[in-house]
Amino acid sequence: MLSHLRDGFSRDIGVIVNTFPPVPQELLPQDGRFGAGPSKVRPEQVEAISRAGAQLLGTSHRQAPVKNLVKEIQEGLREFFGLPEGYEIVLGNGGATSFWDAATFGLVRHRAEHLSFGEFGSKFAQATAKAPFLEESLVISTEPGSMPTLEVQPGIDVYAWPQNETSTGVSAPVLRPAGIDDDALVIIDATSAAGGLAVDISQTDVYYFSPQKNFASDGGLWLAVFSPAAIARVEEIIQSGRWIPDSLNLHTAMENSRKNQTYNTPALSTLVMLAEQVRWLNQQGGIAFAAQRTAESASRVYSWAEKSSYAAPFVKNPKHRSNVICTVDFDESIDATRISQTLRQAGVVDIEPYRKLGKNQLRIATFTAIEPDDVSALLRCIDYVVEDLAAK
Ligand SMILES: *Cc1c(COP(=O)(O)O)cnc(C)c1O
Repeated sequence: MLSHLRDGFSRDIGVIVNTFPPVPQELLPQDGRFGAGPSKVRPEQVEAISRAGAQLLGTSHRQAPVKNLVKEIQEGLREFFGLPEGYEIVLGNGGATSFWDAATFGLVRHRAEHLSFGEFGSKFAQATAKAPFLEESLVISTEPGSMPTLEVQPGIDVYAWPQNETSTGVSAPVLRPAGIDDDALVIIDATSAAGGLAVDISQTDVYYFSPQKNFASDGGLWLAVFSPAAIARVEEIIQSGRWIPDSLNLHTAMENSRKNQTYNTPALSTLVMLAEQVRWLNQQGGIAFAAQRTAESASRVYSWAEKSSYAAPFVKNPKHRSNVICTVDFDESIDATRISQTLRQAGVVDIEPYRKLGKNQLRIATFTAIEPDDVSALLRCIDYVVEDLAAK
């Protein structure tokens, strides 16, 4: 029996447990959660909530116990990313989506350039494009499954792209482009990359993410690593007198974060689960451990797909394939939806492709919390279901 079902979570994730599961028990993974976010939460994180329940939950975020928890997260992330001198961990409510609006107000001086190669990169591009106080954004797009090339231009003061495009499973290098304006900022959407992929933070000015992906917590919060140049930009824009709504004001977020707080009330259970995951990651060996583990899981998926007669990696260039989100195309003769529906009945969930992509594919998260052996079990289950469907 899948552990998250055994623990009584079956109703919460919408799984109907059949008396006769459509896949033999012995093939099933220990944990059947392979979603791209919300994603698998480790049992130890749930235990941490129940421990916190006795003291921390239901107490003020302006008092020492919660502030200490926030501080532990900030220090844990500082260690995990090996932050250079002067970099700070800033956090606030609203998730990465809300951070796009905050960044539009508080980080772009005149003009931003965006690489857009899927849903998430395009959404930040839309946010700056709509801002009446900014010049027209330069948006460089390519088809889903590929990656565009950056153009360096004078007058661009923000270069932005996702390290991992969660909608397609394309992963982009994080390198400060040569020849950009002296004080241009590099702003990386690391929502689904942070905690799972290696990064050299000194190549970035803002590295932001939400905790419901590799950090295996819940949504609703954003966290961002700010460089001294990013901090200076926030201050410069505040001084310019630009109108900024208070809840999207990064200066306010910075001031609160320095006091281990958020501007308004955070979800405490999200912080508890995040702190537990950061602790675990650092104990296991930090970012090198995480990157190695996701690389192992992803290589199992891609090598299986390459050998398979009916599946193939969606991302054609192996260098662009993500180690945390693996997208796999299926032959026309096989309906990928039937695979995901059948596996859902067996408690193996959330391998549907990104809804707007409209491809005959499956999308498998290989986040750090997910066991590589569970990924192998999932692949065996897919093979089983495909053969079973063909026999019918
Ligand atoms: C999930 C995701 C987002 C959106 O995160 P929210 O916390 O839901 O706002 C943004 N960017 C990327 C790359 C993501 O994977």
